[in-house]
Amino acid sequence: MSTSAHVPAESNAEKRVGTRSDGTVTDRLVEANREYAAGFKDPGMDARPVLRVAVVACMDARLDLHDALGLELGDCHTIRNAGGVVTDDVIRSLTISQRALGTRSVILVHHTTCGLETLTEDFRLELEDEVGQRPSWAVEAFRDVDQDVRQSMQRVRTSPFLPHTDDVRGFVFDVTTGLLREIDPAA
Ligand SMILES: [Zn+2]
Repeated sequence: MSTSAHVPAESNAEKRVGTRSDGTVTDRLVEANREYAAGFKDPGMDARPVLRVAVVACMDARLDLHDALGLELGDCHTIRNAGGVVTDDVIRSLTISQRALGTRSVILVHHTTCGLETLTEDFRLELEDEVGQRPSWAVEAFRDVDQDVRQSMQRVRTSPFLPHTDDVRGFVFDVTTGLLREIDPAA
């Protein structure tokens, strides 16, 4: 009888993320980069996005922005954080994107079943209780994703630092169908 039959089967997810004893997940990513670089050819691009667009999106792992929007290498700036919230730091990136690197359009992508819908601003108070210091940032939790997109569009449109606010559009990505739904800023 083969002893290997008694070895617990490793799940596909475990195989993919490299949780075996031969390295951490970061080791796996670095190894993947070696393969990537082996086939990499210098595309000869400068830093200005070809489509002159900046995409602000949630960091959600189920949202593959380039595939979902048909984007190629070099096409756009992607700015991501928890919720795709338009924070001061996102305005910083958009300002550099428009004023120094030539982008003209902004696309906002939030999505269904976002982790921020499960939080409240109490998260900050709980942090303060635990570590003795309240973070300076807002959690930016929300209950209505459509309204959250509208608020983000409004923050972009009203920023005094952004010279190009005519083409600002907001969407909700459905993580189960892959479809974008556009949000009417005036609704
Ligand atoms: Zn999210």
